[in-house]
Amino acid sequence: MNRLRSVMAAESDTEARLMKVVRLIAGTMVADVCSVYRRTEDNRMELIATEGLREDAIHRTFLAIDEGLVGQIAQTAQPLSIQDAPRHPNFSYRPETGEDPYHAFLGVPILKGGRVIGVLTVQNRTERIYQDDEIDSLQTIAMVLAEIVPSDETGPEQTDAAREGRPVNLQGRSLCGGLGMGRVRLHDPVIPAARFFAEDPHIEEDRLESALEELHLSIDRLLAAEIGGLWGEPREVIEAYKLLASDPTWAEKLREGVRGGLSAEASIDRLRREHRARFEKVKDPYLRERLHDLEDLDNRLLRMLAGGDEVKTNGKPRKDEPEVLIARRLGPAELLDYGKSGYAAIILEEVATSSHAAIVARGLGIPTVGGIDGLLTHVSRGDQIIVDGEDGRVHLRPDDQLIEAFGNRQAILSQRQAVFEALREQPSETRDGVPVRLMLNAGLGLDTEHLNNTGADGIGLFRTEFQFLMSEKLPSVNDQIELYQQILEAANGRPVHFRTLDLGGDKLLPNLNDAREENPALGWRSIRFALDRPGLFRRQLRALLRAADSRPLSVMFPMVTSAHEFREAKELLLEEVEWGKRRDFAGPTEIKIGAMLETPAFAYALEDIASEVDFVSIGTNDMLQFFHAADRMTPLVSDRYPFVSRPVMRFLKQVRETCARFDIPVSICGEGAGRPLEALCLIGLGYHSLSMPGGGIGPVKRMLRSLDLSKFGPAFAGLLQERDPALRNGVLELAELQGIILNDV
Ligand code: PEP
Ligand code: MG
Repeated sequence: MNRLRSVMAAESDTEARLMKVVRLIAGTMVADVCSVYRRTEDNRMELIATEGLREDAIHRTFLAIDEGLVGQIAQTAQPLSIQDAPRHPNFSYRPETGEDPYHAFLGVPILKGGRVIGVLTVQNRTERIYQDDEIDSLQTIAMVLAEIVPSDETGPEQTDAAREGRPVNLQGRSLCGGLGMGRVRLHDPVIPAARFFAEDPHIEEDRLESALEELHLSIDRLLAAEIGGLWGEPREVIEAYKLLASDPTWAEKLREGVRGGLSAEASIDRLRREHRARFEKVKDPYLRERLHDLEDLDNRLLRMLAGGDEVKTNGKPRKDEPEVLIARRLGPAELLDYGKSGYAAIILEEVATSSHAAIVARGLGIPTVGGIDGLLTHVSRGDQIIVDGEDGRVHLRPDDQLIEAFGNRQAILSQRQAVFEALREQPSETRDGVPVRLMLNAGLGLDTEHLNNTGADGIGLFRTEFQFLMSEKLPSVNDQIELYQQILEAANGRPVHFRTLDLGGDKLLPNLNDAREENPALGWRSIRFALDRPGLFRRQLRALLRAADSRPLSVMFPMVTSAHEFREAKELLLEEVEWGKRRDFAGPTEIKIGAMLETPAFAYALEDIASEVDFVSIGTNDMLQFFHAADRMTPLVSDRYPFVSRPVMRFLKQVRETCARFDIPVSICGEGAGRPLEALCLIGLGYHSLSMPGGGIGPVKRMLRSLDLSKFGPAFAGLLQERDPALRNGVLELAELQGIILNDV
């Protein structure tokens, strides 16, 4: 490392440096050949330096990205050690390099920003086996080389706009509403190349040890702290972190790096690159999460070592100026950790609205936008940024006009908030006195906060699978009981409809459901999955019954498609009730058993189970995707067919009428119920119980209180009979005419 450092410091010319480095490596490792290949813009591997092969092959030998042993390393991002290379099936012979006499081969990827930007190889004449410590050393050297190998993949490369500091507007997906403005703070710390080598390995080892100690303490503090009222789930995530952090191989690898002459940061960075490169390759969601956790740990440790204001502010935003956190991806525990630190907003490059991070983001209530591909190529630390969590937009380096508009919008939002707060205690009824129940969609312990600050009439949908999705292992019956009890207590007598496990589709649980499906949304999910896993399902039913102990309980089954499915699920629940009775458990005072209507087919099964079902709740998110055959997770189609359209409204009208005919109480849950225009139409159809995300309750209540249903209802029914104009426009006109307040801003 010392000699490498001198070479790096002495030469300014990249080619000369590279040649000296390969000579040095060949000499130190007693190798006959040492070569460096770089990945070109057109994705080939170009020989750019060598000791031992013919020098005139430099810049003349190119391999396809999937060609030869070098190609294999580039593709797998893994080291490759072979005793007799020419006999390997992937060996590609290049006469111009003069490599005939060499047998043993060792190659490692040169990684930057999680991508392979080159390959470093050594070769020997004899058929020898390279030892693990040699492979390790070569990987460390490859990391240093990553700083000098010319590449097009310099991590998050800057776009022209970024380099020139021009404003950029980007569209993502809203994960949590609200507005935030501040300076960019990047989650992944960048190590300056100058800090690669340790001045004094002893001092460096001490630095590493104290950072490791601080890391352990911080994880313990996180565990001890009231971790956001998430009731157990993230605790397990953090406990898993603790386990990973205590893994002796991880810490030992870090120490080895430092003892070998790297700085503590570089040693961590070396491991981080490995984790990241593996992460890029792994498809399995469970393993991806684990590798991501490892990367999180690397990052945490780096933050602890980082000098300057990172240390002063201890990873928290600076007090004097608001900051916006930007990350490629955040785990739920990390997000929780950041969430409590007071960031003005959060942006995640990679995220689906149903991901764990999205769930936590909503629970935290910090404006959050996700799914902006390549965001990191646009930003630099310290840039000013506006995050519009209301419509998923991000304005980078905004000009004065935009900043002014932001100020106005924020003022309006606070006024709006004040209006909603004033409405909180007002009855949720129309101007002509028709009561409409406005309920909350929840799924985390955190969400119950919204019960009180929105004045919701109860929880119309409690997504029990969130607890499963957030946990490292399956929640035990006791974990489940604990969560359900706390929810019931927070609801304080207001109704709570617990929806039983709705896994599968986009809510995959590794371990439980790893079958790859062509169409997961139409696949083995929800009640289908639960009925095929009666052990798991019954444990949940038992937990619900136990939690409700001496209180009423309301349970509904997700995505019921046939009468038979409902009956089978109900049967299991009733068996659990009997089981409890035999054991003298008090059990609930009353049980209501409902079904979610999320498939059009179930609308035509209602009459068969009318006397068996206590209520029906229409999950419009899924229902619409099946109705229109348009995947709710694919942005290209998910917004293509409007909710407020005649086909949808006619279908919902029919369901409403069926329920009325058979005397089945019916409500609507799903995001649409939280938007004033959609809610107006639903109320117009006769739906008088709506469940929605917390942010929808204020705007919908305001609309509701401005509505004269006796006037709107018949006019809306008339609009449904017509062909033109588009229903949405017709309703907007009607609302305007009748003074119904739809705009929530
Ligand atoms: C729905 O599909 O409308 C629903 C409420 O359930 P989820 O969004 O959890 O699938
Ligand atoms: Mg659903």
